[in-house]
Amino acid sequence: MLLSVVVPCCNESANIAELHRRLAEVCAGLDLDAEFVFVDDGSRDDTLERLKALAGTDPRVRVLSLSRNFGHQAALSAGIDHAAGDAVVVMDADLQHPPELIEEFVTRWRAGYDLVYAYREGVRPRLGYRLINALVSTRIPAESADFRLMDRRVVDAFRRMPERARFIRGMISWLGFRQCGVGYRDRQRFAGRRSYTLRQTARMALNAVLAFSTVPLRAASLLGLCTLSAGLVYGVYILYARLSGRPIEPGWTALMLTVLILGGVQLICVGIIAEYVGRIFEEVKQRPLYVVREWIGPADRRPEDRRENVR
Ligand code: UDP
Ligand code: MG
Repeated sequence: MLLSVVVPCCNESANIAELHRRLAEVCAGLDLDAEFVFVDDGSRDDTLERLKALAGTDPRVRVLSLSRNFGHQAALSAGIDHAAGDAVVVMDADLQHPPELIEEFVTRWRAGYDLVYAYREGVRPRLGYRLINALVSTRIPAESADFRLMDRRVVDAFRRMPERARFIRGMISWLGFRQCGVGYRDRQRFAGRRSYTLRQTARMALNAVLAFSTVPLRAASLLGLCTLSAGLVYGVYILYARLSGRPIEPGWTALMLTVLILGGVQLICVGIIAEYVGRIFEEVKQRPLYVVREWIGPADRRPEDRRENVR
């Protein structure tokens, strides 16, 4: 049995040696063969050189170098595509995900679970998660991280999901299978800086909502319905006022307000629809999720054989 550990790295130069040391330690205690698939996601520091040096000293290390920065979720997908294990573990490079938890993952996997995910203990679900869970029917375990073990069956099913807009936690949860969670306490980053920018985080949250739910579209219809009802009520009032001979105030203010409010509501609704149309555009272009520049590892797993868009 082979265990693959997939690690996306973006400017993680100072973490790699320590991560590798701890991974090697953990895997020595497991009764499994192991491989480490490091994905260099367009790092601007010497992450790639360090990974290559590591591959020279440890034959279990594979290096997948992407042509530029494609983002965490795409890098993860790239690594998963290139992993050959009967079980595949994904984790971050910065040691916020303690490698020692892999032991527990493997124990649960051997006990028959197809998917073992880690969740952060002792933290209240952040607003983002609560929002996502309120809007999305696929349940995403609160405070789960991109740190989990997947059985080969889950990996193969996952690789058949072709969408460009990736929110992997949600996709995994949608897949089903026999899942269980393992709690852990989040650590500080070992070294380096967080490379997710606020913008990337916001985009990911938006992706999560729009990719897993059509509630915003329904909200747009609802907004339209409410505006229409308000308009009708006002219309009835005007009619009544006219028939009963009451003076009707000069129309300028009412007219202006109506035009502005209606215009605003319409633009918001068009905007919501546009978000979905934009995503449809992204999907139909059918671009590959990531582009590989270099693969250091077994030749039978060259990127061109991995079918970057499995269908
Ligand atoms: N990462 C990546 N590409 C990116 C951003 C991040 O491969 O564009 C990797 C990064 O090297 C790390 C993991 O994704 O291994 C999580 O990133 P980070 O620690 O910056 O996010 P946080 O843990 O703060 O959510
Ligand atoms: Mg981190």
